[in-house]
Amino acid sequence: MPAIIQLPTHIANLIAAGEVVERPASVVKELLENAVDAGATKVTIEIRDGGMTFLRVTDNGCGMEPEDAKTAFLRHATSKLRRAEDLGEISTMGFRGEALAAIASVSRIDLMTKPAGALFGTSLHLDGGVITQQSEAGCPDGTTIIIRDLFFNTPARMKFMKSDTVEGSRVTAAVQLQALAHPQVAIQMVRDGKTVLTTPGDGSLQTAVYCVYGRDFAAMAPVQSKWDGYTLSGYVSKPTDARPSRNFQTFFVNDRPVKSRLLISALEEAYRNQLMVGKFPACVLHLTLPAHAVDVNVHPAKTEVKFLSEKAVFDCVHYGVLAALNKTPDRPDVQFAKPHREAVPEKPAAQAAPKQNFFRTMTPEEFKSFSAAMQDAPQPQPQAAKAAAAMLPKHIPETAVLHSPVMTPGGEIPLPPRKPMPQREEEAAPLPPLPEAPVTAPRPEPAQAPREAPAEQPPETQQEGVQQALDMPPAPEWRLVGELYRTYILVEQGEEAFLIDKHAAHERILFDKLKANQETISGQALLSPLAVRLTPTAAGELLANGAMLEELGFQIEEFGDSTVLLRQIPMDLSPEDAAEAVESLAADLLNGRREQKDTVRDELLHTVACKAAIKAGWVTDTQELYAVAKAVMEREDLKYCPHGRPICVSLSKKQVEKQFKRT
Ligand code: ADP
Ligand code: MG
Repeated sequence: MPAIIQLPTHIANLIAAGEVVERPASVVKELLENAVDAGATKVTIEIRDGGMTFLRVTDNGCGMEPEDAKTAFLRHATSKLRRAEDLGEISTMGFRGEALAAIASVSRIDLMTKPAGALFGTSLHLDGGVITQQSEAGCPDGTTIIIRDLFFNTPARMKFMKSDTVEGSRVTAAVQLQALAHPQVAIQMVRDGKTVLTTPGDGSLQTAVYCVYGRDFAAMAPVQSKWDGYTLSGYVSKPTDARPSRNFQTFFVNDRPVKSRLLISALEEAYRNQLMVGKFPACVLHLTLPAHAVDVNVHPAKTEVKFLSEKAVFDCVHYGVLAALNKTPDRPDVQFAKPHREAVPEKPAAQAAPKQNFFRTMTPEEFKSFSAAMQDAPQPQPQAAKAAAAMLPKHIPETAVLHSPVMTPGGEIPLPPRKPMPQREEEAAPLPPLPEAPVTAPRPEPAQAPREAPAEQPPETQQEGVQQALDMPPAPEWRLVGELYRTYILVEQGEEAFLIDKHAAHERILFDKLKANQETISGQALLSPLAVRLTPTAAGELLANGAMLEELGFQIEEFGDSTVLLRQIPMDLSPEDAAEAVESLAADLLNGRREQKDTVRDELLHTVACKAAIKAGWVTDTQELYAVAKAVMEREDLKYCPHGRPICVSLSKKQVEKQFKRT
């Protein structure tokens, strides 16, 4: 083996460049972060040919003294870190002192920089990292850096570049990301002579989101919550505006864009049972936490971070988003076709489609810690909860609630369980209890109390809900107008009409009711057992999960020849639908849903609810229609069917009058 030598600086820089400078977009990211660290309030980015031949970043930040300007291009040269201990409390975007050295080593650079108040600035030219010219120069306060001929001396890297269009779009995406990270900085981007992005730098994230994503995204639900000294703020999409990929999920940790599976899971957990399969929420979320609670020094481009407490981070994001979603009234308006579509602003470049079944790609450890995070979430006043539980009757009377899913007018429709809401610091916009109390619901009958307030709930929470209800102005009376196409219930309330999808609504009501009952699902014994023929694997899977199936209301036996015998099925399921339900259960189990018992249970509840619900196209009697409409009109939380389809759309008198040209 040849003798060991220490690599010359320029080779070491080239190697480092491989990590930091992947493509023009990564150069722009580093230069923008430097401008932000320099305290700039205005930054302009200009690129030509996708940034490959020309890339200029101009800022009005603090500038550099002549000596510093030269030192800045040396490896590990930084003004942001002095001692090893500083690594634990990083408050700047940069700290590694590698970016300029790395960029310089693979390009030709012109730098002009002047600190405010200095008479002259400095002008430098570098070729492949070597300073070839240096002079005094008259220039404005701040720094302008021009990168030309990126990768001119590294043909291997050059080969990996895509077309200028693709690289240019990636630069735009990187700039958009920085604009969302730093709403206090006015950012302008010019691409081949055309301005493609301008943000005002007014400090408002909403404005920045609007500038980057356009009008659609400004309608997102605002998130603002505090948790153990962590704050979460930003915007999340409503379940009806979910996207087909995760490309529109943007997370910032202490203003730094990061990729984190933990954050994605926490976000998506808040949408559980509200999204269709293959749909993903969009978000722009800023998580701010004390510098010591996060390690940013784990990735060369600093896009990954390590959290001191993953559980606290998960809870902060999960509950913050959940609260935002519950707070948002969401009955989409009926949309009439518009004659013209507005120009859509440039969207970030498409990224490789992420795996759809993300939850299944996690390690068992991750799953454990996530579900533990869910279960361990602090509960409000456990003492009070226990006391309340002791006061409740031990046995819930066997009324017909589970039996008859929809009751006659005036009948109560059970509420979903309240999730334990962890205690948080109260602040300007306090979060409502989860899920949101049905503000217009009548005071529950005392006899209903055991079902409506699960044992672990303190009576105080219930009280609060009622008090809130009293504070609200009474909603105008609603009236059942009729049914359209045997599918949509038409309801009128004041100046508003509502179209309720009877199947989706009923499905959601049943689902919530089944889910509210956290214990075993009641079953009905079948007079004559039902034989269901399945594939051998499906039959095996069901039989192997017999205990779980029993909790779900099924009693299942082996019958040989890939056939199973159903002796008991869930109360709400009709025997005709049982075979199909069992099949889809087996499919869920086979699809690997078994890691999380909750998810399988939810899936089954979806299936049972879907099967048991009244169907579109069916003749439904008025009393049933009325009961469904009543639940939807009185419960603010009935927004989506368990698959994420909206339950109710509104059509205002104004909208109708507009169609008839009366306004
Ligand atoms: P880091 O940002 O990690 O410190 P860089 O290589 O990106 O390392 O930059 C090196 C140093 O150059 C910075 O620490 C900073 O002092 C200086 N610098 C870089 N860009 C600018 C800028 N736009 N304005 C002022 N100073 C800058
Ligand atoms: Mg830097």
